[in-house]
Amino acid sequence: MNKPGGNIWVFGDYRNYFQNRVTLQLLSRANDLAPAVGAEVCAVILGHDLDEYVGEYIAHGAKTVYVMDDPALKDYNVERYADITARLSAAHAPGTILVGATAFGREFAPALAKRLGTGLTADCIDLNIGEDGLLVQTAPAFGGNLIADIVTPDARPQMATVRPGTFQEIPHNYTATGRIIRLPLPEGLPPVRVRLVSSRRLPQRTRRLEDASVVICGGRGMGSKTRFRKLFELARFMEGEVGATRPVVHSRWAPQEALVGQAGRNIRPRILLSFGISGAIQHTAALSNADFIIAVNKNPHATMMKMADVAVVADAGQVCSALIRELKARIRE
Ligand SMILES: Cc1cc2nc3c(=O)[nH]c(=O)nc-3n(C[C@H](O)[C@H](O)[C@H](O)COP(=O)(O)OP(=O)(O)OC[C@H]3O[C@@H](n4cnc5c(N)ncnc54)[C@H](O)[C@@H]3O)c2cc1C
Repeated sequence: MNKPGGNIWVFGDYRNYFQNRVTLQLLSRANDLAPAVGAEVCAVILGHDLDEYVGEYIAHGAKTVYVMDDPALKDYNVERYADITARLSAAHAPGTILVGATAFGREFAPALAKRLGTGLTADCIDLNIGEDGLLVQTAPAFGGNLIADIVTPDARPQMATVRPGTFQEIPHNYTATGRIIRLPLPEGLPPVRVRLVSSRRLPQRTRRLEDASVVICGGRGMGSKTRFRKLFELARFMEGEVGATRPVVHSRWAPQEALVGQAGRNIRPRILLSFGISGAIQHTAALSNADFIIAVNKNPHATMMKMADVAVVADAGQVCSALIRELKARIRE
C-alpha cells in the first residue's frame, strides 16, 4: 500500500465545549482510520488555560497533544491561529489535518490550507481510507446535487472540515495516557488585526439539535407557520428539539439554526419524527445516523416514507395534534 505518511492531526475547537463535541468526534474517526496508514492520532490545541481540554482529548483518543498555552492566544483569532498551526505543520509534517465544520473551523481551515498550499474538502459527511492509503473525503458537491468522494493525491497535508454530529465520540477513557508536547508562542508573529470586542452565547435551543436524542423535523407539508408551531409544542412534551427543511426556514416558520441538511446541521437522534418532508438528498444526507425514523406524509411514495422505519400516510398537522392530545392526556392520568 502506498501510505501517504504523517500523522493525523485533529484541531482542537473547544469553544462551547459541552455542546460542541466535534473535536471528540473527529478524534474518534481518526482512531478508526489511523491503523490503515500507520499514523498516530494527535490533537493540536491553542489558547489559554487549556489543561482541562488536553486531558479530555487524551481521554477521547489523542495519543499526542501539541499544546500552545499563552494569554496572547486567549481569544480565537483566525489569522493568528492559522499562522501558528501552519508553522507547527511545517515543523511536524502531519499527513492529515481534520477540523470541525463549526463557524470557526469553516473560517480557520481555508486560511490554514491557503498558508500550507494544500487542498481542503469542506463540510465532509464521511471520511475513509482508500486502497491507495489516501484519505477519501466524502462531501456534497456541485450545489449539493451529488455526493462526491474527493482525494488529495499530491499536496500534503490532506485537509478536511467535518460537520458536527457526523461521527460518534469514543466514550471517556479515564485510564488513557498520552504524550503532551508544550510549545512556546513563536516569535515574530504578525500583529493581530482583528480584536474580539465581546461575545454572547447562542440560546440553548439552537445548540442542542445535533445532540438531541429526539428530533421532530417539519417540512413544507406542515402547510403554515401556525401548524408548524405545533411541532414545538410536541417537542416540549417529548423533550426533543425541532428541525426544519430549507423551504420552512426560508418561509421563516423556523429559525435558520433549525435547518437540517447539507446547508444546515447533521443530526443523530434515537428517534426522528419527520412531518410533511419529501426527502430530498440535501435533507436526508444529514439523517444517516438517525436510529429510528417515523415519517408522516400524505404521499406514500415520498422518499422520506421509503427511508422511514414506520411510514404513516396521513395529514401531518392532524397527526401532530393527535400526538399532543395523547401526550397531554397521559400527563393528566
Ligand atoms: C444547494 C442546495 C442545498 C440545500 N440544502 C438543504 C438543506 O440543508 N436542508 C433541506 O431540508 N433542504 C435543502 N435543500 C432543498 C432541498 O433540495 C428540498 O427542496 C427541500 O429539502 C424540500 O423540503 P420539504 O420536504 O419541506 O418540501 P417539499 O419537497 O415540497 O415536500 C413537502 C412534502 O410534504 C408532503 N405533504 C404535503 N402536504 C402534506 C400534508 N398535509 N400532510 C403530510 N404531508 C404533506 C408532500 O407529499 C411532500 O412530500 C437544498 C437545495 C439545494 C439546491
